[in-house]
Amino acid sequence: MRRRTTMFGLATTFALVTALAPTAYAAQDDVGASAATTTDVVASTTDAAIRSDQDWNPPSHLVNPLNEVWNHVESTYPDLYGFRNYGWDQLIANNGQINYCVRWDSAAPVSAQLRDEIHVALQRQVSKWMDVFQPGELGWPYDHVEVKVVGWAVRDRSTLQWNDDSVDIYVNDIRENAPQCAEPCGRFFNQDGDYSRCPGGADRHYDQSLWLTSGMGGGAGGDWGQRIGSEYMVGSLGQDNIHILLHEIGHTFGLDDFYDWTPSGVGGFLMKAGSASEVTEFDAWMFKDFWRHLRDRYGL
Ligand SMILES: [Zn+2]
Repeated sequence: MRRRTTMFGLATTFALVTALAPTAYAAQDDVGASAATTTDVVASTTDAAIRSDQDWNPPSHLVNPLNEVWNHVESTYPDLYGFRNYGWDQLIANNGQINYCVRWDSAAPVSAQLRDEIHVALQRQVSKWMDVFQPGELGWPYDHVEVKVVGWAVRDRSTLQWNDDSVDIYVNDIRENAPQCAEPCGRFFNQDGDYSRCPGGADRHYDQSLWLTSGMGGGAGGDWGQRIGSEYMVGSLGQDNIHILLHEIGHTFGLDDFYDWTPSGVGGFLMKAGSASEVTEFDAWMFKDFWRHLRDRYGL
């Protein structure tokens, strides 16, 4: 059940979801099983495949390495096309917005100003990825993806030094030995989108957690969100690129690690940990390629 904490991680966390949430998958399949829906999906899949061939035009020097990456993904991901909780799925389900819970796994006090600075920095990192798309490119339906922080989870209420009600606060709800926002509000736990047991309702549900752990180096990322060091996050707020967080967001949207191989002809890039500190051209095209292979499921 424990996730890797000292390395960037993807495969273990995605596998974890499959093991934990089989009922959620079954329920989702049941919802979409009407004959009319099936017919619509088949028709739009055909249309989308034609469109994607027409507007998929990466730079020529990236065509081969992108193909290598996708072939590797197809041959190594256990449920590549069946998995339904990528960041893409969450974003579409939440109409172009990502709701976050901050898991403050630290005893350090948080002022209202620090809370808001973390939100701004998180929005900036998410936008680094989302802004690789031109509106309409490859059917991408958004010109802006909004990050909304709906909750903070903490061990002790007094750690949070504000009294306004701008976010929901969850105290001492412990999972994985860290504070979490209420499970009835979390996408990870409710992949059928039913947040009726969430105290704040669907508006206060969270798609991902930004899990900030005191003393942690490196990071982890998956469909549940991103985990990095709290000191690293706070110390990086003034930086344009918070590169470990950027890398982990890449995992949330399905991108792989490159510990054991490198695509032909490309140099450093963000998803090859330690070789770049920002979203490079190659990262951007890998990101678009992942979307390209999933867009049919949304009829886009
Ligand atoms: Zn990684």
